[in-house]
Amino acid sequence: MSQPESKQPSLPFLPFALPEIGEEEIAEVVDALRSGWVTTGPKTRQFEQDFVAFLGDPGLQAIAVNSATAGLHLALEAIGIGPGDEVITTTHTFTATAEVVRYMGADVKLVDIDPATLNIDPAAIEAAITPRTKALMPVHYAGLAVDMDAIYAIADKHGLKVVEDAAHALPTTWRQQLVGTLRSDAVVFSFYANKTMTTGEGGMLVTRDAALAARAKVMRLHGINRDAFDRFTAKVPSWYYEIVAPGFKYNLTDIAAALGLQQLKRLPGFQARREQIATRFDEALADLPLILPPRPVHAGDTHSWHLYVVRLSDDTTVTRDQVIESLFNDGIGVSVHYIPLHLHPYWKERYDLKPEQFPHSQKAYERMLTLPLYTRMTDADVERVITAVRKVFGRA
Ligand SMILES: *Cc1c(COP(=O)(O)O)cnc(C)c1O
Repeated sequence: MSQPESKQPSLPFLPFALPEIGEEEIAEVVDALRSGWVTTGPKTRQFEQDFVAFLGDPGLQAIAVNSATAGLHLALEAIGIGPGDEVITTTHTFTATAEVVRYMGADVKLVDIDPATLNIDPAAIEAAITPRTKALMPVHYAGLAVDMDAIYAIADKHGLKVVEDAAHALPTTWRQQLVGTLRSDAVVFSFYANKTMTTGEGGMLVTRDAALAARAKVMRLHGINRDAFDRFTAKVPSWYYEIVAPGFKYNLTDIAAALGLQQLKRLPGFQARREQIATRFDEALADLPLILPPRPVHAGDTHSWHLYVVRLSDDTTVTRDQVIESLFNDGIGVSVHYIPLHLHPYWKERYDLKPEQFPHSQKAYERMLTLPLYTRMTDADVERVITAVRKVFGRA
């Protein structure tokens, strides 16, 4: 690899990700702070309503939570996952997807990905089903929709629940329908700092199942049920509540929801900018020995472009680690999504997992890196990343 010694004035480090927070968000947060409502209140309720409006399906309920992890946990709790049950998900994800299954005392069956999409492989799901299997947790990796037709076909055939980890998938469509509006039992979005929109920390559980929504709302806040009282009297004294379960502390604050209200308004613009950057990367990196990110299989579908993941093709001798080092030396932050779960000590040891069981995830992991892609990148930042990547292959 070439390491030119020319002394150019060094540019500031380009971080791997940065949230885009503007004056609108700041004003809305200040409004929350001045209002006196700093925890869950009117802004959280408005955010939930706006989220349903964004998805465009009034049959949905949106339940704001303080992380996607919390939302996934609540979804599994509400569908009744417990000890003895198995839930199937991809090994190529963040540990949050799988850890919530263990919170419920159930077991995780990790399966391999389809190397074309990097999403969970439906054939691998079929092969992993046992009489204990209760649910599937597809992850729309990088923001590219999972083949949901295949997921529902398997779920219907075996009577399984479907909980989508949509942490990357806002906004993503499958056959022109937004993820969140399909027919899964629950769908969970993340508003973590580096996601396509942020509330600092936060998440949204979306469902069209009224019973699931009711249970998740109760469990979101200590197992408090005020509706139980409503059944017996028209007037609920403000001080009265009943505890119906040992719930969790998963509610979103109004300070966070204030951020969410404004971020949601800007989301279509954010997606358009991400798309523009992805398209520029695609054209500028096309001649390099790289496998560029897969595009949606159906024309007209939206990719959220949460992540722009490239893989080294088989015909290059440059290693992934060399690429990362070179980019870091050029002041560019990159990441790897993900170190597959089967390589982490906890998952590996608990389920006695071997890389050979996940050949596609393993190979992708060894050859992949994620380039910076976020709305605050200027066109010059984008070109800088392109130049640095081309330099690695001697094509600057
Ligand atoms: C970020 C992420 C989560 C967790 O989101 P939090 O809001 O941080 O809890 C879950 N799954 C995937 C795939 C993620 O990328």
